[in-house]
Amino acid sequence: MTTEQPWRVPLADVAVDAELAEAALETVRSGWWSMGPRVEEFERAFADFCGARHAVAVASGTAALHLALLAAGCGPGDEVIVPSLNFVAAANVIVHTGGEPVFCDIVGPDELNLDPEDVESVVTPRTKAVVPLHYGGFPCAMDALGELAARHGLAVVEDAAHAPGATWRGRACGTLGLAGCFSFFANKNLPVGEGGMVVTGDDEVAARLRLLRSHGMTTVTWDRHRGHASSYDVVSAGFNYRLDEMRAAVGLVQLRRLPQENASRGRIAARYREALDGVNGLSLPFGRLGEERTSAHHLAVVLLPEGTERERVRSTLAERRIQTSVHYPPIHGFTRYRSAAARPLPITDAVASRLLTLPLFGGMSDDQVELVIEALLGAL
Ligand SMILES: *Cc1c(COP(=O)(O)O)cnc(C)c1O
Repeated sequence: MTTEQPWRVPLADVAVDAELAEAALETVRSGWWSMGPRVEEFERAFADFCGARHAVAVASGTAALHLALLAAGCGPGDEVIVPSLNFVAAANVIVHTGGEPVFCDIVGPDELNLDPEDVESVVTPRTKAVVPLHYGGFPCAMDALGELAARHGLAVVEDAAHAPGATWRGRACGTLGLAGCFSFFANKNLPVGEGGMVVTGDDEVAARLRLLRSHGMTTVTWDRHRGHASSYDVVSAGFNYRLDEMRAAVGLVQLRRLPQENASRGRIAARYREALDGVNGLSLPFGRLGEERTSAHHLAVVLLPEGTERERVRSTLAERRIQTSVHYPPIHGFTRYRSAAARPLPITDAVASRLLTLPLFGGMSDDQVELVIEALLGAL
């Protein structure tokens, strides 16, 4: 039973095989479905993979960001700095903590990550935290950001949704600040369906994350099932942001496959760069990654030549059943966040209208890659 595939080359795809199906089925058959031993194992394995002291599994990447901000002490009246060229999740959860997102610009068309100079210019006494995004899996250069965060006493909460396995100076993205947030949504590098993880090196932050994940209760059902506890207290108004056992079982398999998945993505991204960068006015961001950064290659993004009608290019590709996307319409342009758009974000505005995301997933065939290249060049 498979869903009919409308695209010859979808933007993202999951590889399904017997080992994955068996992991899910075995968990269903075990009869223990809510957060338990597989979640614990997934957390340990993910912490080891990142070289983090703690990993706390949650229901989604959005839940990860929400809990990480709360655990970092964000609350009403606080300002939290975030790039506008981003998925909307971080901005939304900043609002849910009672805080206010402050949008900042990116470095430039080749470096789509947060610009530390722009961040510096918006810090006020109310600024509590900064949430850098490792755009497309390309690590932010953390020197300047880390230095300014330390100088102003800001918490760094990494949005590492694109960046499992990416490294900066040999250290995993997600472990470069107070806490790092990952997403296991179906189109990410480690797909589980819905799910997320927060990693941290801070014992107190980890304890707060665990508490808030499950209603602020001092014990969880799994403890009571094992006879480790018979009752509980509630010490904080928490949430139900737990991950379940089926997803953790699938996540364990996907985590073992992640290095290979990222390597395949890297090979495809290199082929795109070789065939497209500098051709017909196209350019590919992050051309100067240097020695100190390795990417997780979550997104294959090209910058269209100035003045290109993006929707025409996209529909030309769609006619050939090639799916594309745009990462992202800047958040400061959305109705909900327009009032916060008082600051100009000239680089974001100039770059955003030229961005186009091409299909990229580990299981892409050479034929699919070449088809995308040929169709894109033909559409310009
Ligand atoms: C996917 C994503 C999220 C949200 O993750 P979910 O698991 O879908 O809640 C947050 N930030 C970025 C940058 C993402 O790409």
